[in-house]
Amino acid sequence: MEDVWNKCLSIIEKKVGANAFELWFKPMKLLQAKDNNILLEIPNRFFREWVEDYYPNLLSSTLEEITGHPVMLKFKIGEKGDSEARKIDARLEGRKQRLASKGIYLNPKYTFSSFVRGQSNQFAHAAAMAVGDSLGRAYNPLFVYGGVGLGKTHLITAIGNKIADKRQDFNILYVSSEQFTNEVVSAVRHGKTEELKGRYRNLDLLLVDDVQFIENKTATQEELFHTLNTLYEKQKQIVLSSDRPPKEIKNITDRLRSRFSMGLIADIQPPEIELRMAIIQKKAEAERIQLSEEVRNFLAAKIKSNIRELEGSLIRLGAQASLTGEPIDVSMAKNVLKDIISEDDRPITVEHIQKLTSEFFGIKCQEMRSKKRTKEVAIPRQVAMYVSKQLTDSSLSDIGKNFGGKDHATVIYACKQIEERRAKDEDFNRKVDNLIKRIKG
Ligand code: ADP
Ligand code: MG
Repeated sequence: MEDVWNKCLSIIEKKVGANAFELWFKPMKLLQAKDNNILLEIPNRFFREWVEDYYPNLLSSTLEEITGHPVMLKFKIGEKGDSEARKIDARLEGRKQRLASKGIYLNPKYTFSSFVRGQSNQFAHAAAMAVGDSLGRAYNPLFVYGGVGLGKTHLITAIGNKIADKRQDFNILYVSSEQFTNEVVSAVRHGKTEELKGRYRNLDLLLVDDVQFIENKTATQEELFHTLNTLYEKQKQIVLSSDRPPKEIKNITDRLRSRFSMGLIADIQPPEIELRMAIIQKKAEAERIQLSEEVRNFLAAKIKSNIRELEGSLIRLGAQASLTGEPIDVSMAKNVLKDIISEDDRPITVEHIQKLTSEFFGIKCQEMRSKKRTKEVAIPRQVAMYVSKQLTDSSLSDIGKNFGGKDHATVIYACKQIEERRAKDEDFNRKVDNLIKRIKG
């Protein structure tokens, strides 16, 4: 077995590169291999989180490739790892097993209490709480959408965890739409569609993650539609997530799209600075990573658009500090995170956005800052306001001031106009995307 492990390590080294390998995989030790169960020792729990987040399945698929049979991976924190962390791990693992024995597979870490609220996610959070409080009766379905790494999976899983704790007798199923697709395909192929129906139509709570992946998959859409209808009629709760709102999921049937839209649609926006700070604070406390205020500010300022990346960075810093014994300071952070933070990424300013946007639309930059209201100026100005809200940390009223002394309500109105037009007008949408790319350089 030692041979298998060494072979596995050398394959992984080629796949992930020397740096990631040295830091994350090399410190792992093979403790035990019995039948399909493989137990690995890791220095602390950062390792497991990191590897599961960034290379999910890499270890198991590599081991499966070498051994030719499926494997079940388990991790154990080494003797030197701290005991508090081991306890937390054991508790989460215990809960996970308990639910698994009832056929419920939910990530135990994704709960409401570990979800940090901010302006950008408060609507979706409130909707999810309401659904968790009165299943099938508040909003059905609840449709949560937002960009990558903003907490959709966390939030919809939290509903599942809450219900699992409250109602031991409830049937809860979390499924990604890809997994659902595979199940449909396989059921059709093996003549087991009745079983599939039995499984999906007798639930109390169905969570379907990343539903946008069913675009172009006719049979899956058909099955999902009937599943949702059946559950809905029985007043059973449906929760869906997607990277975009229903009306932007183009290649699905109209009736499925309208089914998606019949309850409540809630969006999650990129995290504002306060939320990023709060998440860093909470995660650092939970992982007991010591961070100075300077480092916290540095991280919150540099990593803006993705909470997963923010957490991943913290874990990397925690692991680095735990391995080297060095305290975490800004220069360590710069060094460890250099692949995601570029040294000279000056923050994008409203002025920069105005300059490039006016060039893009062929008007004078001066006009954009003026009070002029002709159409030729008004639309580029609205676009520039919208982009400023997306790409800078300026407050709405600061943005407004830069555009001929407009107030914050005007900026909100502009953003709404542009969002609506982007959703309706494919050409315009592409134009704005191109502009944003150009501004980001
Ligand atoms: P998505 O499904 O939208 O891509 P996830 O739900 O997987 O995003 O979230 C990515 C990571 O960020 C997860 O580890 C999640 O726990 C964390 N996260 C996201 N939003 C929050 C939040 N508001 N509070 C705490 N953690 C969050
Ligand atoms: Mg997700």
